[in-house]
Amino acid sequence: MLTVLSQTGGIVLLLALATQKWLTGISKTNYVLTTLKCLWFVFIYALCTFLIVPLIARPLGRVPLPMRETGHLKPHNLLSCLLNRNYVHKDLEQTAFRVAAQMHQQFPGSTLNYLDAGFPFINGFPLLPHLSHNDGKKLDLSFYYRDAKTNQVLNSNGSFTGYGICEEPLPGEINTAQGCSKNGYWQYSLLKKIVSQKNKEALTFDEQRTAAMVNFFVADENIGKLFIEPHLKTRLKLSSQKIKFHGCRAVRHDDHLHVQLK
Ligand SMILES: [Zn+2]
Repeated sequence: MLTVLSQTGGIVLLLALATQKWLTGISKTNYVLTTLKCLWFVFIYALCTFLIVPLIARPLGRVPLPMRETGHLKPHNLLSCLLNRNYVHKDLEQTAFRVAAQMHQQFPGSTLNYLDAGFPFINGFPLLPHLSHNDGKKLDLSFYYRDAKTNQVLNSNGSFTGYGICEEPLPGEINTAQGCSKNGYWQYSLLKKIVSQKNKEALTFDEQRTAAMVNFFVADENIGKLFIEPHLKTRLKLSSQKIKFHGCRAVRHDDHLHVQLK
């Protein structure tokens, strides 16, 4: 499970188990020893995640996106960094920083909030539940919202993981989610059913900032393809050929933007 979640977690656990013998010299009491073993695992995990993994990953072509707000780029949830899900190819890192700066310049106070990126090692290693985030060339980004009551601009999206709060099709707009579900693709709207929708009412979709973000990525020479739900492509008046439909085998993209390198 640790390997599926974080790629390196399983190996770190084996490493911690293999090197924990010396702890028995500190205490023989069961609960003290168990606590020490857990702390030992956390220590080794932190050492690997913060120091060793970034050092090894960099020469192999992947770099971690920042854990704290840096250059107006930040993770939506720190957990994605702690689970090593924030690694990208250097070109994608540069693009993310570039768009973050452009967003901040056009909308002072705005940050670019990233969601899942990729793992540090091995092309083809799946970053579940994503189908394609397996080579450091893909990155998901949060949409922008406003406070529904005060209309104040926000840099959060109301979902713990950043996924699952969807900007539904309006009457008259194409409803891809309904079409995919009707055709038997039960997973297409699965996240929406799992994720708590209690914060949805408090948010208004910020069309202006979201469209600007998409257009900045579209204009970036490193970016080859973007996924956003078709009804939002129409609503936000996005016309670039780089914006494709991801297909019913994926999940809906009216809760986040997906970008990938050429
Ligand atoms: Zn994605």
